[in-house]
Amino acid sequence: MGRMEASTTITAKLPDGKPLELPDGATGADAAAAIGPGLARAALAIRVDGELRDLSAALPDGAEIAILTDRDPEALELIRHDAAHVMAEAVVDLYPGTKVTIGPPIEQGFYYDFEFPEGVKVNEDDLERIEAAMNEHIAADEAFERRDLPVAEAIEHFRAQNQDYKVELIEDLVRDEGAETVSLYRNGPFEDLCRGPHGPSTGRIATVKLSSVAGSYWRGDETREVLTRIYGTAFFSKADLERHLELLEQAKARDHRRLGPQLGLFMLRKEAPGMPFWLAHGTTLLRLIDAEVHKQLRKREYEEIKTPHVMDVDLWHRSGHWDNYRENMYFTESGGREYAVRPMNCPGACLVFGAERHSYRELPLRIAEFGQVSRAEREGVLHGLLRVRAFTQDDAHIYCTPEQVVGEVTGICEAIDELYERFGFDDVRIELSTRPEKSIGTDEQWQKAEQALREALEAQGREYTLNPGDGAFYGPKIDFHITDALGRSWQCGTCQVDFFMPERFDLTYTDPDDAQQRPVMIHRALLGSMERFAGILIEHHAGRFPVWLAPVQALVLPISDRHVAYGEQVATRLREAGVRVEVDRRSESIGRKVRDAEIGRNPFMLVVGDKEQESGELAVRSHEQGELGTMGTAEFAALVQREQETG
Ligand SMILES: [Zn+2]
Ligand SMILES: [Zn+2]
Repeated sequence: MGRMEASTTITAKLPDGKPLELPDGATGADAAAAIGPGLARAALAIRVDGELRDLSAALPDGAEIAILTDRDPEALELIRHDAAHVMAEAVVDLYPGTKVTIGPPIEQGFYYDFEFPEGVKVNEDDLERIEAAMNEHIAADEAFERRDLPVAEAIEHFRAQNQDYKVELIEDLVRDEGAETVSLYRNGPFEDLCRGPHGPSTGRIATVKLSSVAGSYWRGDETREVLTRIYGTAFFSKADLERHLELLEQAKARDHRRLGPQLGLFMLRKEAPGMPFWLAHGTTLLRLIDAEVHKQLRKREYEEIKTPHVMDVDLWHRSGHWDNYRENMYFTESGGREYAVRPMNCPGACLVFGAERHSYRELPLRIAEFGQVSRAEREGVLHGLLRVRAFTQDDAHIYCTPEQVVGEVTGICEAIDELYERFGFDDVRIELSTRPEKSIGTDEQWQKAEQALREALEAQGREYTLNPGDGAFYGPKIDFHITDALGRSWQCGTCQVDFFMPERFDLTYTDPDDAQQRPVMIHRALLGSMERFAGILIEHHAGRFPVWLAPVQALVLPISDRHVAYGEQVATRLREAGVRVEVDRRSESIGRKVRDAEIGRNPFMLVVGDKEQESGELAVRSHEQGELGTMGTAEFAALVQREQETG
């Protein structure tokens, strides 16, 4: 009966709280048109009760709605997903028989993984051709059309096209989620299994650029089919794309994987994938970074410990790592006993705390450890120093009373502010992550922990974003993100409240009434992984570190072989005065030495020849300020000292 009454309406709530009356069955596009013709043209999708949907979907009654346009940060992700479908459309057309797998949007663009037919090899030379075909589909402004099919029919549909990966995906949806229907999206002749949402048509993608081709495995699993991944990106304007490409060029020039070996900082070898070899200059850099962290440890009254890298597997059962983290751990066996290489430092710290009786008077007890940890990452995800298998955390565990949590978290935030500023990062973004699916502990414990973190951030008036479900398995966490010289965001520090591990290790302290109480444990790292932080620093400074952080502050360049002995004398005196200095002893021309020194990116070059040797001086050339004239070693050492202090 209701169906016959054309006058039925629904009401949607707009972002400003105003109601919008629409006929029953109205879509997102209808809502946009009802608000105004400009918005109808600009609309890309619609948020319905917070969830992004297609404009063509009918709206439920009473929903809160917001129209998505290209001004919305999520809009880029939407058109990049659209672009991935268009790329698949072009590829399937150009290379008949290609099997499609998945094609998600990623941070800077999108990719799609394909299995090309026997004998077809696609590489970077083919990208132009694929891009041209994509541009034709974009110019044709093909609509994205959704249809929902019962799973049996969808499986039939994809099987008939030999799209086995799609069949497997649907079968998984049935098994894992009990799916009865799946959605398909069509653009032009191409139809893909997809949850959506999508923009209204391909024309809205505006501009695309394909960037690279890489190998990948189906589902990232080395035992499954080898696929070809094509990467690309999409933007709303040519100008945005140009800016993006310019940034990519700059990022390439700063790539720490290239600068690391070039500047003698670190190297990576196939003998130990994901486990960096720190070279002399890099080790100096790490020491300098360490020293800054140690300043914070002294200032904030931490004690420092060192615990074993390899411990009995029983310990990892007790800590919960076996149940929750096993797939990321390395194991080893000796004398019939099974051991694990530590992926985290917490259990070692708990054994140290638990070895003695503690009074409430000792709390908060702050125990730091520069702990090297190893994590079994898949080889495919390793990336220079940024994603490794072995790294050192500037870790600490704080044992305190529940009342002390807010104060401790506040102190950690302050330490992070001071430390990051010292390294030249002043834009710090904070994220609060809450309980994940796989976790230990009760609802009440989680609520208390999450509340404590929130309180600390709010009491300091700090802005933060919420990451629901992204916490550690043992507790909620605050992550600290920095922005580098190219505007890229990196997660570094972390602070996690943990009510569980003290229970697992039966840790206690004696309260004023002589009763045994459970301490709260806070895991925190200021810089996070030292390797990763060093990698970020290398790229942030493009390898040209400020004077205080440069592994080699000055390079002595003897004009000819007969000046090497004098150069060595100068270096010895400077070293005694605290300057980090090296001598170029090679029998090369001075022009060559200067050019190589330029590549080495040291702040100062000290040229010594006959004149300098006679006067007992050195000719100073600063990278920043050019020629500074000749001066004595003491004068130069004082200059370096001044530069160090001003940062
Ligand atoms: Zn899709
Ligand atoms: Zn920990």
